[in-house]
Amino acid sequence: SANIDYQKVLNQIQQEFADIHPSGKVASYIPELAKVPSDKFGMHLYDLEGNNYNFGDSNERFSIQSISKVFTLALAMKVVGDDLWNRVGVEPSGDPFNSLSQLENDSGIPRNPYINAGALVVADVLVSYFTNPKAALLAFLHEITGDSSIDFDTTVAASEQAEGYRNYAMVNYLKSFGNIENDVEKVLDFYFHQCSIAMSCRELAQAFIIFANHGTVLDSDREFLTGRQVKRINALMQTCGFYDEAGEFSFEVGLPGKSGVGGGIVAVNPYHYAVAVWSPPLNPKGNSALGMAALERLTTLTGFSIF
Ligand code: GLN
Repeated sequence: SANIDYQKVLNQIQQEFADIHPSGKVASYIPELAKVPSDKFGMHLYDLEGNNYNFGDSNERFSIQSISKVFTLALAMKVVGDDLWNRVGVEPSGDPFNSLSQLENDSGIPRNPYINAGALVVADVLVSYFTNPKAALLAFLHEITGDSSIDFDTTVAASEQAEGYRNYAMVNYLKSFGNIENDVEKVLDFYFHQCSIAMSCRELAQAFIIFANHGTVLDSDREFLTGRQVKRINALMQTCGFYDEAGEFSFEVGLPGKSGVGGGIVAVNPYHYAVAVWSPPLNPKGNSALGMAALERLTTLTGFSIF
């Protein structure tokens, strides 16, 4: 990848989409997301040589939402190891992110850690392990980014709780199968906070570089995850990172990635770069419409995906 001019490619992507009003609708289930301007658009690519390339609103923080599921999975794998896989599966669900239906036949074992059901089980694991799980999650993010200003948006978290009927149903249903150890309120409080974390495209690309770099922070020998763990986190992003659109994202973009309803998407080109894009309008599957299109252009214009 050394001979690819990433800034030129990003400039071209910005230009190509400059006059396109993305189809889709900004998430509206809480007012904090509904009021984010739909024309925000930014992208940031961080490569293994430590170079930064970007355009647009790449330094503005937004609600990372389900992108946080990658961070919590990484932390849970670190602290409990392979025991985690007794409680959550590794298969794509082919269903929407907030679906409850498969849990009935699967005896309360979520298909994977990136749908809400699976992320709630991962949240429960962290609530069991840490005395202060919220502080532990922030500490992990501060360590991998070197930026201690990354924080929860407590207004977003409170709204998530006020409107979180389906997540309440999900965690209660999981608990009825014995797959939640803690008080449901504690698990949901942690989950709503993880979803509320605010980060920019730059910060997300810099945080995700460990998934492109064998689990090690760039320019350091601090290994946060083993190569085997990173392989698994990335494999799950490839197969499950976009819910019932995981196949389409793989088909169009050809990179492991993870989306959130705040309109962010982060993708990883292992051993080469991490890239984040933000555009709030979502397609019917709950993924950023313009974000997916921009990443399709990135791998097409560079002729470089994992495939
Ligand atoms: N807070 C949202 C929820 O739990 C996150 C979903 C998402 O980003 N896909 O419903």
